[in-house]
Order: sequence, then C-alpha cells, then structure tokens
Amino acid sequence: MEYETIQIRKIEGACGLCEEYSEKNITTPPKIAILSCEGACARGEVSRRAANLIAHEMAKDETVRICLGGAFTKNIGQRNLVRRAEKCLAIEGCFVSCATRMMQGVLPDLNPEVVLADTLYEESLPFGIDEVSDETFSTYARQVAEKVVGTYIKK
Ligand code: SF4
Repeated sequence: MEYETIQIRKIEGACGLCEEYSEKNITTPPKIAILSCEGACARGEVSRRAANLIAHEMAKDETVRICLGGAFTKNIGQRNLVRRAEKCLAIEGCFVSCATRMMQGVLPDLNPEVVLADTLYEESLPFGIDEVSDETFSTYARQVAEKVVGTYIKK
C-alpha cells in the first residue's frame, strides 16, 4: 500500500455550529456516522444530497451527518462522532472514495461501509452540476438514500 503524507495547518477556534451539532448528536449508544464525498461534481452532488436525506429525513434518529472537512481537519467534535461510532457509512460520489480515504488518514482503524453512489443509478453524470436538473439530482439522491437505508440502517 502506498500513502501520501500531508501536513494540515492547525488553527485556533472551531465552528460553533459544527460543535453544537456534534454535542447534540453525541448519544449513547452512538449514532451511525454518515460521511459523504461532498464533491463539486454532479456525482458528488448526488452523494451529498443522499447523505443529507438519510441523516436529516429518512433515518434521523439512527444517524448523524458528518462534516467531512471539519472531521478531517480538526480533532474535535465531528471527528469524535466518527471515532466513537460503532458503524460508519461513507457515501462516495465515485470510486476515488475521498471521504473514506480522508477519514482513514486521521483515524487509521476506521472501517466504514463504503457505498459508491454512482453505481446505484443508471445515468453517467457529467462534472458540471449546471448540466443536471434539480429534479434529476433529487430522484437519484433519493434512490441512493433508499438503498442505503434499506441495506445498512433499517434492514
Ligand atoms: S470526481 Fe469523484 S471525488 Fe471528485 S467530486 Fe466528483 S464524485 Fe467526488
């Protein structure tokens, strides 16, 4: 296995909203942590929307939405949610699996269930989110979210 080594500059302070959400969702037993690509492209947009649907609508009580950037760059609330979760789902926009690989960089023992969202809908989407309708995003995101909830959360 080959690795890239990076250095993340530390900063003082934290995002209050992120920390407040983390504190509210540090439950016992822990909720299932939902990571997503958060990507800039259309496939990332589908995974991002699917993750939001799961954590904020379809499985609100069982899951917590993770801020990938926050959990990756700061060793505080959001990373703790992932660290203590007994189950973690990474909804990836594509095979690059950035959410999984980023979080494994800071939590080497993390072993999430990885869902490649772009394998769960028929169309091959372009990069630009301006080339895809809002309705299409909503349809595919719900399709992905329903599959994930049915397979991993409410079996
Ligand atoms: S190319 Fe892949 S990693 Fe990049 S935003 Fe799109 S889905 Fe995410």
